[in-house]
Amino acid sequence: MPTLERKHAAILLRRDGDDVLWDCGEGAQLGLLAAKVSPIKINRVFITHWHADHFAGLLPLIETMHMEQRTEPLHIYGPEAARFVDALLELSYWGVGFQLRTTEVPLDSKEVIFSAPGYSISSIPVKHNIPAVGYMLQEKSHWKIDVRKAKKAGLQPGPLMSKLHDSGEVKVGGRTIRLSDVATETAGRKIAYSGDTLAYEPFFRAVAGADLLIHDGTFVEPLPQRAHADVDEAARLAMKYDIKRLVFTHVSRRYGDTLDMLKAARKAFRGAVVAKDGLRLQL
Ligand SMILES: [Zn+2]
Repeated sequence: MPTLERKHAAILLRRDGDDVLWDCGEGAQLGLLAAKVSPIKINRVFITHWHADHFAGLLPLIETMHMEQRTEPLHIYGPEAARFVDALLELSYWGVGFQLRTTEVPLDSKEVIFSAPGYSISSIPVKHNIPAVGYMLQEKSHWKIDVRKAKKAGLQPGPLMSKLHDSGEVKVGGRTIRLSDVATETAGRKIAYSGDTLAYEPFFRAVAGADLLIHDGTFVEPLPQRAHADVDEAARLAMKYDIKRLVFTHVSRRYGDTLDMLKAARKAFRGAVVAKDGLRLQL
């Protein structure tokens, strides 16, 4: 349940002008308004699972897009996405004036479900009490050419250098120059979101080394129910799998403030954060 301080799940990822939404709970549009983000610019919504606190904002978001005369398709990803999106559309008199394209997401293996020029988004198995997944955005690694080295190797800045950058090797005067000879590789960033889940080791293994992990942090202490994580166990696993920044979200309404949660999380993971509505992080 939401509280006056904490709305339901909705995480906006902005990368080079691409706005992508991870979950779209009740109040998502209000969160976007508060963050001065136009809901119209969102082209992809990734739903972790079909509990209402993760998708109930989808219908009003679609209605707004329709009223604003959107024409571009909206892509919706999730387990059984077609079934649930069709059910939402059944609730409208006239349908919407743009296409809703759904992608079914596998539950039992990590798979790339969306690829763009600089990055991809994968779905990752988690453990919840209904079919659910987590997501990870992974940038491609990029190469920076050392122009001095390139010149030494006989390559001048220009089309050949661009070709080397794009294809990995070029021929100059009968010799092959490889990108790795004259450039250094920088790994792309990785950002992961668990949705609702236990602290599930295979998930952490799949997102190991992530620059940012946003994880289920429903409880402070371990509870016998087996659908959500407690921050202690999740923080330990995040340490074990070399997560760089850790943010807990989906806090139970039993906690008025999150001070005890923060303490427990930071015992195992220095610098862990408990999310607040409107929290912005830059990587
Ligand atoms: Zn759930």
